[in-house]
Amino acid sequence: MGYAAVRLEHFDVLIVGAGLSGIGAGWYIQTRCPWASYAIFEARDAIGGTWDLFRYPGIRSDSDMFTLGYSFRPWLGTQAMADGDAILAYIRETAAEYGIDRTIRFRHEVTRAEWSSADARWTVKATRTDTGETVRMTAAFVFMCSGYYRYDEGYKPHFEDSERFAGQIVHPQDWTDDVDYADRRVVVIGSGATAVTLVPALAQRARHVTMLQRSPSYVLSLPAQDGIANALRRVLPTNLACSLVRWKNVLLTMASFQLSRRRPQLMKAVIRKGVERALPAGYDIDTHFKPRYNPWDQRMCLVPNGDLFAAISDGRASVVTDQIERFTERGIRLASGTELGADLIVTATGLNLLALGGLEIAVDGGDVDLPETMSYKGMMLGGVPNFALALGYTNASWTLKCDLTCDYVCRLLNHMSAHRYTACMPVNRDPSIAREPFIDFSSGYVLRAIDAFPKQGSRAPWRLYQNYALDILALRFRALEDGVLEFAA
Ligand SMILES: Cc1cc2nc3c(=O)[nH]c(=O)nc-3n(C[C@H](O)[C@H](O)[C@H](O)COP(=O)(O)OP(=O)(O)OC[C@H]3O[C@@H](n4cnc5c(N)ncnc54)[C@H](O)[C@@H]3O)c2cc1C
Repeated sequence: MGYAAVRLEHFDVLIVGAGLSGIGAGWYIQTRCPWASYAIFEARDAIGGTWDLFRYPGIRSDSDMFTLGYSFRPWLGTQAMADGDAILAYIRETAAEYGIDRTIRFRHEVTRAEWSSADARWTVKATRTDTGETVRMTAAFVFMCSGYYRYDEGYKPHFEDSERFAGQIVHPQDWTDDVDYADRRVVVIGSGATAVTLVPALAQRARHVTMLQRSPSYVLSLPAQDGIANALRRVLPTNLACSLVRWKNVLLTMASFQLSRRRPQLMKAVIRKGVERALPAGYDIDTHFKPRYNPWDQRMCLVPNGDLFAAISDGRASVVTDQIERFTERGIRLASGTELGADLIVTATGLNLLALGGLEIAVDGGDVDLPETMSYKGMMLGGVPNFALALGYTNASWTLKCDLTCDYVCRLLNHMSAHRYTACMPVNRDPSIAREPFIDFSSGYVLRAIDAFPKQGSRAPWRLYQNYALDILALRFRALEDGVLEFAA
């Protein structure tokens, strides 16, 4: 085969994923590194990732949009916690406004990336999800914006005798508009963010909704609208108002997280007071809203204007804390012996975490075993050249970290271009750095999958601080040439 026949299409940067992060990454690359050619490969046939995939009633953000929105295109909506539709429109509009949508190759699932030090480039394999055809291309730098969970299937634990249930069973990730819940008895299994979102939304039309949980989570009510934000936007120029609000929310979120970690008893008391105020006198809070762990040992559930508590207070929804023994023809038999009648069961049992969108990587002929790698600043991998990943915070808005990551990647690319470096790779030469799990949450969905993720290290720059202020220092201000990130000409 002649040379021309095997020459592959080449990009300076390949972005994988056209969700919130991938569209943001596109903006950064084309704005900060205008010299760089780039493309976004997206497995699905739509922009938006999470916000396009999930279609269940009530789907919304549970962190504020002033920090979940991009710093370069402030969120102008009035809702602080916005509906899924509004978030999807915001991502699509951003992509269209800046022409990022023209760089997307839809239905291209990236499956394998092989680095060659001799050529200083990645050869990337993608599968066309419509035709099954294999597509190959090369890239100098790969930027994974592929989210953190499996798109093809949510987590569906086995329930004894589930096939006997005469009604419908649906997982929120599979929700379609034709799921009928009007005037039906609905049981939502779960106690996480999805369950607390679904219950009040379904309760608007269902006959009754029961939230069936094995154990309670922390549920905190927040105003759906941010009064300070709306007032500031009336009197100040939009960009100034938005950046002030962004900082206000960053600081409040960080303060609440730090307070939870340092003074858990105080935080527990504050949350408890809120629940007491929102529910009728005598409600059994100890059984249904008193978790066995400390605040922020798992992600906190936030509900706008206490909508979950309102649905419970009105009698449209109720909470049952019990174990499932098995499904029956009519509903669910519980360990306590009672049977919950249901026409529709929604299994809000969570996600299947997936690292790097399932991508396999090889460096100079050797396959990279992801759990053996350690993440550098939470956005590159030790021993893997010219490769970055956009992974947001678990204790604050996702985009805060992704914005910093994109900013860093652009700084890195410009630095390499200016010094004619062709490769950069974090290398740990300090044996005293201990390896630790990537995320220190005790939630089931984290514990089920964390062994397949890279590790973090016990100290900077290998430590994942989950702290915006520390990350600003690490990613925006620290020198790129720090002795750990090694460059090759
Ligand atoms: C229901 C729900 C609510 C959430 N609410 C919040 C919230 O309020 N605040 C918050 O901060 N976070 C929230 N999150 C986390 C949320 O996922 C992020 O906020 C954000 O949407 C992630 O964007 P992303 O682009 O990084 O990933 P995703 O939205 O997951 O997008 C990843 C994209 O990459 C594509 N992709 C993956 N693998 C490949 C591959 N191998 N090849 C090609 N394409 C690939 C996917 O098809 C997808 O389009 C929520 C998550 C869920 C599931």
